[in-house]
Amino acid sequence: MNAIEVTKLGKTYPGGVEAVKSIDFEVAAGEVFGLLGPNGAGKSTTVGMLTTTITPTAGSARLAGFDVAEEPLSARRMSSVVFQEPVIDRSLTGRRNLEIHARLWGVEPREAEARTDELAATLGLTELVDRPAGTLSGGERRRLEIARALVSQPRVLFLDEPTVGLDPRIRAELLEVIASLRNRTEMTVLLTTHYLDEAERLCDRVAIIHAGRIVALDTPAVLLAQLGRELVELRVDGDVTGALASLRDRGVAGGDAFAVGSRLTVPLHDTSSGDAIAAIHDLGLAGAISARQPTLDDVYLRLTGDTLAAAA
Ligand code: ADP
Repeated sequence: MNAIEVTKLGKTYPGGVEAVKSIDFEVAAGEVFGLLGPNGAGKSTTVGMLTTTITPTAGSARLAGFDVAEEPLSARRMSSVVFQEPVIDRSLTGRRNLEIHARLWGVEPREAEARTDELAATLGLTELVDRPAGTLSGGERRRLEIARALVSQPRVLFLDEPTVGLDPRIRAELLEVIASLRNRTEMTVLLTTHYLDEAERLCDRVAIIHAGRIVALDTPAVLLAQLGRELVELRVDGDVTGALASLRDRGVAGGDAFAVGSRLTVPLHDTSSGDAIAAIHDLGLAGAISARQPTLDDVYLRLTGDTLAAAA
């Protein structure tokens, strides 16, 4: 059985904002699945519907077989969420925070105690778990948030923008922790992010979401392979469409080359970057040229005409 099944799911907020527009996807048990898109794309709304805090206005979703609208309590019990905003009580110890969450989720106290010790060890919190949460550093508190979510042994763990607002060192540390969750094969993880590196590094498959719609869904490797092994990017002064046509005539650019504003992106399939750059010079198109490996940002740019970095 799939851990998550989403069918024509939609949400229009009162006032008319269509945040999610008929999306479909399935996540297999044990998979790490990413929703990648800029702010406002509809990621949190999707997570809200899957965790039963937001009521869908169209379609349906099932979590471990339970319909989120028809069986919300059962569906809710299957998952835990690490929210963008911290939920742990800073005046209580880490242990007490975990204990409260475990009790709410119906975990036996003794079992909760054992899991707390195990999670504290796994997440590097053993020395810290008996201190008031307010005395922990930002990164330590994030790890405690994850421990709290895991103490109920969710079938599905939702991580909503898990590393947003963290300094680079803490972010790197947290990414290690999240990557290690992949080893818990019995657990499914759905994470939302607007960071490409995060999606590429952590996710088995990624749905690219733009203005409430899924515009691409595949493994990062397949999404990237669509753009060849290498691409050339150039800025064109003047006629971009004409420049693209000339590059196509020369056989340098294929059907998948695209222009956004004055920026031309040319995925290379059979041509080396050296040959491509030489041809670009020959055609008198020399602006700023660079050759590099494609990223998910290029995939996003090609599909939406927008950059994730700019849109975020
Ligand atoms: P993301 O998580 O990708 O940043 P959100 O799901 O938070 O996107 O938001 C999607 C869209 O829905 C945005 O246009 C946002 O302004 C709008 N939105 C989110 N929450 C509400 C709400 N409670 N009421 C009205 N509009 C909302």
